[in-house]
Amino acid sequence: MKKLIEQYIGIRKRIKAYEYALYMISWDSETEAPSGCFEYRGEQIGVLVEESYRIETSEEYVHVVDTLYAHRDELDADLYHEIVEVKKHIDKTRKIPMDQYVAFQILLSKSQTIWADAKKKNNFELFKPTLQKIISFLKDYIRYLETDDCKGYNILLDEYEPGMTINDYDQFFNELKTRLVPFVKKVIAKAANDESFLSGKTFDVDGQKQFCSYLQDVLCFDRSHGLMKESEHPFTTGSGSTDVRFTNHYYPKNLQSALFSAIHEMGHALYEQQCDSKYDGTFSTGGASLSLHESQSRFYENILGRSKAFWEQHYSVLQRQFSKELQDVSLDEFYRTINQVKASFIRTEADELTYSLHIMLRYDLEKAIFVEGLSIDDLQDKWNDLFFEYFGLVVPSVKEGLLQDIHWAGGMFGYFPTYALGSAYSAQIFHYMKKDLDFEGVIASGNTKAINEWLKTKIHQFASSRYPKDIIRQAIGEDFDVSYYIDYLISKYSCLYGINPS
Ligand code: ZN
Repeated sequence: MKKLIEQYIGIRKRIKAYEYALYMISWDSETEAPSGCFEYRGEQIGVLVEESYRIETSEEYVHVVDTLYAHRDELDADLYHEIVEVKKHIDKTRKIPMDQYVAFQILLSKSQTIWADAKKKNNFELFKPTLQKIISFLKDYIRYLETDDCKGYNILLDEYEPGMTINDYDQFFNELKTRLVPFVKKVIAKAANDESFLSGKTFDVDGQKQFCSYLQDVLCFDRSHGLMKESEHPFTTGSGSTDVRFTNHYYPKNLQSALFSAIHEMGHALYEQQCDSKYDGTFSTGGASLSLHESQSRFYENILGRSKAFWEQHYSVLQRQFSKELQDVSLDEFYRTINQVKASFIRTEADELTYSLHIMLRYDLEKAIFVEGLSIDDLQDKWNDLFFEYFGLVVPSVKEGLLQDIHWAGGMFGYFPTYALGSAYSAQIFHYMKKDLDFEGVIASGNTKAINEWLKTKIHQFASSRYPKDIIRQAIGEDFDVSYYIDYLISKYSCLYGINPS
């Protein structure tokens, strides 16, 4: 057994090295790479992916994993979980023909640039052939992986949130539709004449960067094990707890965008940095699932970052940074503005209350593609129709509609619903955090250290060495329950908008 484990660790090291190289290339592609490099780069990525695939499907590796799996009861809890997951992954990988898999990875290495160009030029036609190829591959992928228990679109959903199915998500979104949508309509009616105290002003980009750097200190982001750069669409990535990177995007006319993207991405980054370092270099590194990850980013962004207590502490610093622009904006006005409810076109700019409607739209669209067989030619119309149904607005341009998100260009269908699930998790986690912590007292201390520590102990430290539902159950003593989320939103926005919550 000991020899077998050593052999496993040796091969794992090699796979992780390829993973690390691909991570660095992808980070560079998103942040610094010159636009002309992608053709050649795509070929190099193809070689690395192929080599890595060869190791992962090699007889030696498969034999070692199969044998360890057969003797899994003799392994410690961490390795047990890892081997079960690796075995699942190998069984999956073996079902997909290598040439198709490599071709898909090469396609993805180019597709995000094509998407960015199409979005910039506001022209879906430029991206359509690439998206068609991605969807075709995923339809093949589904066919290869289908089992008696898991079929169709459920294969993609399960990929991003293990165990979640169309049934689960339908139930979840129906609950939101029943309780939240009527409330949202009341708030939108009341908010119609709301004034934004930040609009029409210009916020110097360097000043925004400086304040985001200040936020890194407030949230105790560990700069010796992470960094922040810029990209078209903010994201977080990393390799283990010692190298965690995130990006931001700055708009001179929109201060809120950079502030809350930075806090959101730092929520992801803190989760990664606070994983127990013993999982670095293993396959149990990083967050336990996408929705659990999103529960952390949404917690920092909305529950903490949009709270009155947070800005009571930090608004004066922001005012000093933008003394001219913010001199006539009071803390109360700023607080109202950052929590303003508005039916908007862009998901990433959406307020906390209407956010899940944007996710519902994408979920419905993905279901239409993978369950009902919607043609790509009808995608743009379907998007616009659904948007009108949920928000009562006509989408003015494709870059503010179908082309706004990077996810589908990255092949990530089945991903979006985890955002809504994550938001719902965050409210439930917050409910229990307040039982242990003086939340506002911690914020008043000037940084979020004690909150970070609570999350580290309850959730982060376990990385992905356990299943998300087990981590949650152990952290808060009960299973997922969407009512905490709905209660939290109704309570917060009733108060903000003077609405009777009943
Ligand atoms: Zn996120």
